[in-house]
Amino acid sequence: MKGIGTVYYGEGIQEDLEKYRESALELGASRAAVIEASGIEVDELVTLKCRVPRCFGYGVCAHCPPHTVKPGELKEYLKRYRWAVFFTMDVPAGVIVREKTTIKERVEAYRKIFHIVSEVESRAFYDGYYLAVGFGAGSCRHTFCGQLEGCAALEGKKCRFSLRARPSMEAVGIDVYKMAAAAGWDIYPIGSSAKASDVPTGTLAGIVII
Ligand code: SF4
Repeated sequence: MKGIGTVYYGEGIQEDLEKYRESALELGASRAAVIEASGIEVDELVTLKCRVPRCFGYGVCAHCPPHTVKPGELKEYLKRYRWAVFFTMDVPAGVIVREKTTIKERVEAYRKIFHIVSEVESRAFYDGYYLAVGFGAGSCRHTFCGQLEGCAALEGKKCRFSLRARPSMEAVGIDVYKMAAAAGWDIYPIGSSAKASDVPTGTLAGIVII
């Protein structure tokens, strides 16, 4: 563990960022990159897509719009951060398309993203980057509380998975497609009517801002 002064005013942040990038890969990401926080694409239009057509996650948990961090707020916060580790994970298209037969694998894939995000964020925190913050993929309501009644956090109680659940990148307005494309990584749009046979691969993404 490093002292905070060492972290913020000393050398070594590039080595630490590379360590977090490698951690993301070791934990299961297919690809990961260290990027500048200024390169994180945030757009209100991304959260418009949560409402039109209405997403099944909209309004049903504390980490989804309209309850979570707004894109405008995030833009302001990002001015105060310098770096991020962005990653994607390939998932078979048959798992990502919304078929009842693959729901177990789908939930596991989304949980893995939250696991990578929370682990990398935690490692950065304990290294002294105590303001590190991460965002995952999909709605925690379905990934963690799908079999449970309602969202505890929206009822004023403690989130049932407070250290694992995060808002998704898209829930706070981060344009995941644009960022993957900017990194030179292929990604395909998969909507409710997508057929697995038409899609080369599914992609889930996460980010930890440091
Ligand atoms: S209680 Fe469940 S649905 Fe609500 S924020 Fe926590 S993980 Fe998400």
